[in-house]
Amino acid sequence: MSKSSWKDECGVFGIWNDPEASRLTYLGLYALQHRGQESAGIVTLEGRRETGSHTHYKGLGLVHDVFSEEVLDTLKGDVAIGHVRYSTTGSNLLTNAQPLTARLRRSQVAIAHNGNIVNAHVLREKLIQEGAIFQGTNDTEVLLHMLARRGHKKFMEALQESVELLEGAFSLVFLTHKKLIAVRDPQGFRPLVLGKRKSESGQWSTVLASETCAFDLIGAKFIREIEPGEIFWVDDEGEHSIRMNVSKKSAKCVFEHVYFSRPDSVVFGRSVYNVRKNFGRVLARESQVDADVVIPVPDSGVPAALGFSEESKIPFDMGIIRNHYVGRTFIEPKQSIRSFGVKIKLNPQSEVLRGKRVVVVDDSLVRGTTSKKIIQLIRQAGATEVHMKIAAPPTVSPCFYGVDTPKKSELIANAMTKADICEFIGANSLEYLSEKGLYESVQGSEDEFCAACFNKNYPTELYGLAKD
Ligand code: AMP
Repeated sequence: MSKSSWKDECGVFGIWNDPEASRLTYLGLYALQHRGQESAGIVTLEGRRETGSHTHYKGLGLVHDVFSEEVLDTLKGDVAIGHVRYSTTGSNLLTNAQPLTARLRRSQVAIAHNGNIVNAHVLREKLIQEGAIFQGTNDTEVLLHMLARRGHKKFMEALQESVELLEGAFSLVFLTHKKLIAVRDPQGFRPLVLGKRKSESGQWSTVLASETCAFDLIGAKFIREIEPGEIFWVDDEGEHSIRMNVSKKSAKCVFEHVYFSRPDSVVFGRSVYNVRKNFGRVLARESQVDADVVIPVPDSGVPAALGFSEESKIPFDMGIIRNHYVGRTFIEPKQSIRSFGVKIKLNPQSEVLRGKRVVVVDDSLVRGTTSKKIIQLIRQAGATEVHMKIAAPPTVSPCFYGVDTPKKSELIANAMTKADICEFIGANSLEYLSEKGLYESVQGSEDEFCAACFNKNYPTELYGLAKD
C-alpha cells in the first residue's frame, strides 16, 4: 500500500428503503462535504434480491460538481450508499474515489470507508504475493480482495472474518445485492450513526451517516451510534446486529471534536458545538489574560472563542471576516502580495481591532504558518497586542487513523519550544489548552479517546507507518 493513503479523510452515507435513495444520499453527502472535497460517489441498488443490481457514479470534485439531475436520475433503486473523500495530491485518482465496487462470486458489492486501516499494507503485500491485482492505492481495496478470497462463504461470514483481521480505523458502509451493512472498528475511532426517516408517503427508511448533521438535512431521526465492533445490517427480513470477536481499547478520535466534525453534529454522544465551547471556557480558566476583545479565527475557532469570551468576560467580536467561496486552489497574482494566501480567505477588520489588545482563538496549531500570517494581518489592522489561544494541546504527532496531519518534522510543536513558537508566529503570548483540559471539555478520558496527535499514545501497532 502507498503509505500516503493514511491521509484519507472521508464521509459515508447509506439509506435503505426510499424511492428517492439517490437524491437523499446526494443531500447526505452535501451535509458531509466538510469531511472530503476531492471526490464523491453514489452506488444504488435496484431490486433487493438475487437479481438486484448496482448502478454507480463517482467523480472528482465537490458533491454539486459531480452530480447533476440527469446523473441522479440514472441512479435508480430504493437503496444507496455514498462517499466523499479528501486525499492529498498524488493520490487523488479517480480509481481511489469511492464507493469501490466489485462483482464477487455470490454478490455485487460496494464499499464506502472512512478511516485508515494501519495494517492494510501488510495485508496488501500478502494478497499481491498470492496473485491479487490492485487498481488503486487505497486501503479499502484490500478489503474487497479479502472478501473475494472468501467468495465460497456466505457474505456475512466472509465479511466478519475479513474485518476481524483489520487494525486501525474503519467506519464502513457496504451494499450487496440484498443488504445495506454498517461496520465500525472495535476501537470506534471514527463516528458512524444510525437513523430512521419517514417519507412524505409514510414509508420508513433506515439511514447511516458519518455525522448526525446529515440526518438533520434530510429530516431523519437519530436513533443511536453504530457501536464500536458492531456489524449492523438491514435486509428484507429486517435489521440485524452482531459483534466482532475482537476486543480492544476504546479510541474515539478526539480531533473529531477539536476540528474535523461539523459543530452542529452530535459525535460520540456529545454535541460538538458544546464541546468546542467547553474547550474555550477551560482554556480561559487555564490561561487568563488582560485584553479588550476576543476574536475567533473563523470558522473553526468560533465556538471556542465564544466559550473563552463567556468565561473570561472579555467581549467577543468578529475581528476577521472569512470569504466562504474560496476553494483549495486559486490563481495567485504574478507580482507577490504579502500574505496573499491567507488574505484571500480571511480579512481582518480595523474597526474591531484598532488600538485593541486582542485575544485570537483558533482550534489548533499545526505548522504555525496560518497563525503567523493571521497575526501579521491583525497587527497591520491596528491591534496593539495579540494573544494567541489554541483550543487544543500542541499537535506533536501525525495521525495514522484518517486525519490529514503533516509529517512529524512539519509539526511546529515538535521542533520548537512554546516560547520559540510564540516568537515565530509574532504573538505577545501563546497558550494551548492542557491535555487535562481537553478531557475535561469532552467529558471523557484517555480510556475512551485517542489523542495520539497530542500525546503520541497510539492505541494500535503502527506497522512501520511512523517512520514517515
Ligand atoms: P497551521 O498551523 O498553519 O498548519 O494551520 C492551522 C490551521 O489548520 C487551524 O486553523 C486549523 O483549523 C486547520 N487544521 C487543523 N488540522 C487540519 C486538518 N487536518 N485539515 C485541514 N485543516 C486543518
